[in-house]
Amino acid sequence: MSVRFERLLGAAAHPRAAPDYLAGYPAHLREPVLALIEQQRFAALLLKRYPRAHEVRSDGALYDYVQALKADTMRSAAPLSKVCFDSKLHVIRNALGTHTTISRVQGARLQTKREIRVATLFRELPLEFLRMIVVHELAHLRERNHDKAFYQLCQHMEPHYHQYEFDLRAYLCYRDAAGAPLWSA
Ligand SMILES: [Zn+2]
Repeated sequence: MSVRFERLLGAAAHPRAAPDYLAGYPAHLREPVLALIEQQRFAALLLKRYPRAHEVRSDGALYDYVQALKADTMRSAAPLSKVCFDSKLHVIRNALGTHTTISRVQGARLQTKREIRVATLFRELPLEFLRMIVVHELAHLRERNHDKAFYQLCQHMEPHYHQYEFDLRAYLCYRDAAGAPLWSA
């Protein structure tokens, strides 16, 4: 059976299936999580590890948070023009965060604007998950692609980067399986 045909088959079996957030992980990491979700034991375990949501709720608070993290870890990187939550990212573009750099010639000068957008779903999550996505987007100021150098930089900025990303993806799988939000106000 060709890969293409398997994909078509998958799409037909689950016409509105959301992306599999743990698809990139090996089975020995992925399957225990899916089993916990299935057995309705996942929520309690995740809440034990991450009991509280953070307080970074507004675009202004997010801007300050990102600037502080940038000052700590990437002082020499170019300044950011804009930082905000974006409610359309996750739903329409299927992204958790984005970073853009727009360069424009204005008169004799080249003006560069850099912005970071974070999916609104992060507004009501534990600080560890917000930190993970912000580290990810800040790292893109220096490393464009998702290669080894990029993930080394992420891990340098946050030693638990990989654990936080895995746990966040597990949470998104849990939400896709119709699990209730764990930290909403
Ligand atoms: Zn990225």
